Amino acid sequence: MNYIPVIGLEIHAELNTKSKMFCSCPNNPFEKDPNENTCPVCLGHPGTLPTINQDAVRSVIMLGCAIGGTIARESHFDRKSYFYPDLPKGYQISQYDHPLVEGGMVAGIRVTRVHLEEDTGKLLHDIPGYTPEKPTTFIDFNRAGVPLMELVTEPDIKNAEETLLFAKELQRMLRYLGISDAEMEKGQMRIEVNISLMEEGAKKFGTKVEVKNINSFKAAADAVRYETLRQKKILEEGGKVDQETRGWDDTRNVTVSQRSKESAHDYRYFPEPDLPPMIFSDEYIEEIRRSVPELPQAKRERFMREFGITALQADELMDDKTLANYFESAVSELLKKITEPNFSLLLNYLTSDMRGIMKSAAVGIQDIKIPPEHFAHLISLVQNGMISSRMAKDILLKMHTSGEDPETIIASGGMKFVDSDEALFPIIKEVVEKNEKAVADYKKGKPASLQFLVGQAMAKTKGQADPAKLRILFEKSLSE
Ligand code: ADP
Ligand code: ZN
Ligand code: MG
Repeated sequence: MNYIPVIGLEIHAELNTKSKMFCSCPNNPFEKDPNENTCPVCLGHPGTLPTINQDAVRSVIMLGCAIGGTIARESHFDRKSYFYPDLPKGYQISQYDHPLVEGGMVAGIRVTRVHLEEDTGKLLHDIPGYTPEKPTTFIDFNRAGVPLMELVTEPDIKNAEETLLFAKELQRMLRYLGISDAEMEKGQMRIEVNISLMEEGAKKFGTKVEVKNINSFKAAADAVRYETLRQKKILEEGGKVDQETRGWDDTRNVTVSQRSKESAHDYRYFPEPDLPPMIFSDEYIEEIRRSVPELPQAKRERFMREFGITALQADELMDDKTLANYFESAVSELLKKITEPNFSLLLNYLTSDMRGIMKSAAVGIQDIKIPPEHFAHLISLVQNGMISSRMAKDILLKMHTSGEDPETIIASGGMKFVDSDEALFPIIKEVVEKNEKAVADYKKGKPASLQFLVGQAMAKTKGQADPAKLRILFEKSLSE
C-alpha cells in the first residue's frame, strides 16, 4: 500500500510593534532583566481592562492583502480559556470565528486564515543553583501579551521540501512587510506541523498528529520526515495512528507523545467582553493595501528580468532585504559608470567577498563602511580590467577598514596601476613578438585582435595596468 503525506501548518509570528497587544508595555520579550515590561493588564490583575493595539491589527491586515486573502469588514476577539502558569489571566485573548483574514495563498499553498492573539510568558526551568532535588520554575512575563499572529494553512503540503518552501517564503514576506523579524531560533516565528498519511486513492484524510516545539527550519523538515516514517510503520503493521500532540526532540531527532489533542470546546471560546468589536471601512483597508511594498516573489522576478541573474542568485538576495536593497543601489551606481555593466560580476563580489567581510566583522551590510557607490566603483575597475581580481579583494578589505573609495586607496597605498611607459614598453614589445597572427589580423582591420593583445598584456602585468593606456600604446606601436 502506498501512503501519501497530508500536511497543514500552523505558524505563529511575534509582531514587532512598539507596545504589547493590549497594554502600553514595551514589546521586548528579550529584555535583559525578567518582568521589566509588565503592568497590571499584561499580568492579568483583576479589574484591569485591555485596549487593542491598532498597529498589530494593521500588520495582520497588511499580510492579508499581501497574500491575496479576504479582509474581514467586521471582526472581534474571543477568550480562549485554559490554565497554564505562563498565562496569568487563565485565558488568552485570541480570535475564533471571525479572524481578520480568510483565504489567500503563499508559495502555491492555500492559507485558511490569519488571526491575532497574545503571546504567553516564559517558564524558566533550568536556572543554575536549582537542582532536580530542589526543582524550581521561574516565570518571566516580559513576553506575556506580545502581539502574536497565527496563520493556518489548508492541508495542501505534501512533503518536507514543500514545508520548507512555504515557511521560508512566509518568513521573507513577514520581513519584507516589516511586521515581524521572524527569527526561528529566537522563537519569533514558530511552526507547528499537522501531518497524516492517506492511502493512495482514498477519499478521506487519515488521523492527524500535531507536532510542536519546532525551533528551526531544519527541525520542521526533520519532523515531517520522521512522522511520515513513524506513521507509515504503524499503518503497515495494521495499527491505528492516535490523534495527539507530539513534541519535537531536537537532540534525539524524534517526536515524542505529549498529550491527546484537545478540541475547540475544551477552550470554551466566547467573545471577549472587555473589547469592542472591530469594524473596518473600505478606505481603511485600501489605504493599507496601497502601503504593501514590493514582495519577494515580484522582486525575484524583476531582478531576474532586469539584471539577467539566475533564480538561484536572486534567491540568495531575497533572503536578506537590506542586501537586496544594497545590490539595487550598487547596480544603479554601476550604470552611471559603465554602459554595459556586468551585474553578475557585481553580485558575485557582493555574495562572496563582501559577505566574507560582513561575516568576519559579524555585521550586516547596513553597518559596512562601504557605500554602494564605492562598491560599484570597484566593480567598474574590475570589469574594465583596470585591476585584477586579486587586487580587488585587497582593495575591498581596505575600503572596509578605511571607508575610502577604491581610487584613493590605489593612489595612496603601493597598489598603483602599472602605468609608466618604461614599465609597459617591454611588455608591449614582447606581446607583439609572441602573437604574430593577432598582429597580422589587426593590421588587416580586425579590431577584436587588439582587444586580445591588450588582454595578453594585462595578464603579464597581473591585471595592474590601465587597459585604456595599453590600447593606445599598442595602436601606436602597431602603426609604426
Ligand atoms: P484542529 O481542529 O485539530 O485544530 P484544524 O481543522 O483547525 O484542526 O486544522 C489544523 C491544521 O491541521 C490545519 O493546518 C489543517 O490544514 C491541518 N489538517 C487538518 N486535517 C488534517 C489532516 N487530516 N492531516 C493533516 N493535516 C490536517
Ligand atoms: Zn503590560
Ligand atoms: Mg484548529
